[in-house]
Amino acid sequence: MKCYYCALEGKDSEAVAICIVCGMGLCMEHAIRKDVDVWEGGYPLPSKRVKTPLPRILCPACYNALYAE
Ligand SMILES: [Zn+2]
Ligand SMILES: [Zn+2]
Repeated sequence: MKCYYCALEGKDSEAVAICIVCGMGLCMEHAIRKDVDVWEGGYPLPSKRVKTPLPRILCPACYNALYAE
């Protein structure tokens, strides 16, 4: 898979991660790692709360949608 953001810019970077929200492929430059301990919303990933923060990879668009002030 290629990085979607790089593809938009005409670059051809191999994706190293996938956004857990939209499934977009992301290179190191565009992947945002966010450690969260509670996942809010009706998202079909862990339905149970976990005790330790889990690393999650988000794309810039989803990060902004979820965490922008
Ligand atoms: Zn990229
Ligand atoms: Zn995303």
